Amino acid sequence: MTESTTRTLLEGKLAALELRLASIKRDVSRSHSSDSAEQAQERENDEVEDAIGVETEQSLHLVRAALARLDEGRYGSCEGCGENIAPARLAVLPEAALCVNCAG
Ligand SMILES: [Zn+2]
Repeated sequence: MTESTTRTLLEGKLAALELRLASIKRDVSRSHSSDSAEQAQERENDEVEDAIGVETEQSLHLVRAALARLDEGRYGSCEGCGENIAPARLAVLPEAALCVNCAG
């Protein structure tokens, strides 16, 4: 994978994650109904959405860090041991900051 392909991929991922996060935040802050049974259900939904939101924010952080490494010419090196991250791993997880050994 060339560097510009990787960048395009990461930027696409970044945009998708930002959209998802924006829509989760909109959902969580929407006005709740006054019916108590529905409120309980909505609270549950909010908890699920919060968990997804946290996960999305973590992914965003990883993708931004990967783009920064790309800018600095450090992309593809493991943050743990400094070895090259296997291309097959980067193909699946382009924002990976650790090699399989360090991530395991
Ligand atoms: Zn490593």
